[in-house]
Amino acid sequence: VHPPKGKPKWLRVKLPTGKKYTQLRGLVDKYDLHTICTSGSCPNMGECWGEGTATFMILGNVCTRSCGFCGVKTGRPETVDWAEPEKVARSIKIMGIKHAVITSVDRDDLKDMGSIIWAETVKAIRRMNPETTLETLIPDFQGIERHLDRIVAVGPEVVSHNMETVKRLTREVRIQAKYERSLEVLRYLHDKGVNRTKSGIMLGLGELEEEVIETMKDLRNANVDVVTIGQYLQPSKKHLPVKEFILPEQFKKYEEIGLEMGFRHVESGALVRSSYKAHKHIN
Ligand code: SF4
Ligand code: SF4
Repeated sequence: VHPPKGKPKWLRVKLPTGKKYTQLRGLVDKYDLHTICTSGSCPNMGECWGEGTATFMILGNVCTRSCGFCGVKTGRPETVDWAEPEKVARSIKIMGIKHAVITSVDRDDLKDMGSIIWAETVKAIRRMNPETTLETLIPDFQGIERHLDRIVAVGPEVVSHNMETVKRLTREVRIQAKYERSLEVLRYLHDKGVNRTKSGIMLGLGELEEEVIETMKDLRNANVDVVTIGQYLQPSKKHLPVKEFILPEQFKKYEEIGLEMGFRHVESGALVRSSYKAHKHIN
């Protein structure tokens, strides 16, 4: 594998356009709403917002973990804002979001690991936006069942937890996480009756094709319904380098392999992020 020079053309991002996008952008600026879409300058904003999908992060913006690929700040997080569930629910209402993805930093510092705010956020969104469907993209909660149960109890349409990478690279890519534990979390969610479970991986960190296929198989064996596969991009020089830009044909190949394995949905492509086309995954 040759170290890549510059971004290939399929990763060059088009500026988002469209009436709905412009309208939402205006609201976000006016009300100072926090979406992952804008803070991460996601390339899919035009498309997702046009379809009424956006991603929100809760429990602050400082994480207790320090994954080698992630642009979120690490350190001691802020105190919990108990008004946050209402704020997020209101943002969703103001933006007229039809399908919301909620995610969070990891809060290993809290006794409940943030699971109470998680559940309260889902409840507040439901109260204020009864038509909006939800995906909760959750941390592993260290695999602790009582925290996971709080998510299951509020019944989001989709519950996702990302593997992020293949087994061999897990230590390097997300040091405080464990490959097997993440699989267990996904299996547990399915067994508890979650409507749709979902997971995502990033490529270009040095993984081999057979390792990607092995991860997909492991996910299927844990009864995961949806998988997303995208290109890793380095958020800054301090983060893990991109080892390889995966070719569009290779993404297509993984999509075909995944569908054959029995996933209900496989989103596989360079610009795919775990919440890309998320509204489709409730079915
Ligand atoms: Fe937002 Fe996710 Fe869509 Fe990006 S892929 S615009 S983060 S919903
Ligand atoms: Fe980023 Fe999540 Fe890892 Fe925290 S746990 S550093 S938010 S990927």
